[in-house]
Amino acid sequence: MHKILTIGEILVEIIATEKGDGFRKATPLIGPFPSGAPAIFIDQAGKLGQPCAIISRVGGDDFGTVNLERLKGDGVDISGIEVDPLATTGSAFVRYRPDGSRAFVFNIRDSACGKITLDERMTRLVGECSHVHVMGSSLYAPSVVESILAAIGIVKAGGGTVSFDPNLRPEILKSPGMREALLTVLAETDLFLPSGDELFLFTEAKTESQAVAELLASGIKAVVVKRGAAGASYFDAGAALSLPGFPVEEIDPTGAGDCFGATFVSFWLNGASPREALEFAAASGARAVMHFGPMEGASTRAELERFISEQQA
Ligand code: ATP
Ligand code: MG
Repeated sequence: MHKILTIGEILVEIIATEKGDGFRKATPLIGPFPSGAPAIFIDQAGKLGQPCAIISRVGGDDFGTVNLERLKGDGVDISGIEVDPLATTGSAFVRYRPDGSRAFVFNIRDSACGKITLDERMTRLVGECSHVHVMGSSLYAPSVVESILAAIGIVKAGGGTVSFDPNLRPEILKSPGMREALLTVLAETDLFLPSGDELFLFTEAKTESQAVAELLASGIKAVVVKRGAAGASYFDAGAALSLPGFPVEEIDPTGAGDCFGATFVSFWLNGASPREALEFAAASGARAVMHFGPMEGASTRAELERFISEQQA
């Protein structure tokens, strides 16, 4: 059985309950919710019964405990999460604006997960894994980038595979070293999972089919394009297929891409057909947006099967 590894940020998310522009005035909040893109991803993999682990760090505080308990309860191997009693768990304050865009206050780089290193114990854990999933958002600090690249090297040397979700907006590309790190990860990627314009981050191509062709020619085995409520598409050297989004009421879009990705990767690794993997991933993304809170909408396989059959009825 494959074991999936991810490395990166663990956060709590604290959400303003009233829409508005940012945090310059006192506003009602709800949280802490367990969060962080790689944490949501790995929690969804765990809920599917997929062996999986995350390498990260939390502080010796309640925000750390919220995450440790959730991840462990959902079946994630948390032996790679170091608890630093002298540090504070990362956090993100989020407020939706009336137009649907989001204002954030992040504490990531200076939090416990700001420095992640692969010591001997962590390196052993990497050695147990046959797949690494990289979130572009996790390339936020040099020590994390170094750990991710080292883990990719170990897993690939053992014949394993890499999936990559850029999970960023073009403006983050301006942070120092980010573009180089993204390109290095892309060169090792087997399964690429961009959303929207992220498909064009690394290419001069002007059309989707040109961009996909270029990525497949560079050695990537498969590209999965996420399109929010409009669904998703799958491309490899021999196949192209698209599925519409399931018609659901969107309560909170955060985490959809992460749940979608974890479900696709788990099915893909276990030999599912692209159509089956895409259908379960789309169901996972749709269920994620139906729940308030970033990790609250992760699904078990039974929940996905029930959702799909209800939708087909
Ligand atoms: P994130 O904002 O978490 O980074 P993303 O941009 O990576 O997400 P999305 O395209 O928003 O990813 O969502 C991933 C998948 O989840 C979509 O391809 C779709 O299948 C499903 N999905 C997302 N939003 C909706 C929705 N409103 N209705 C139905 N399905 C949805
Ligand atoms: Mg989105």
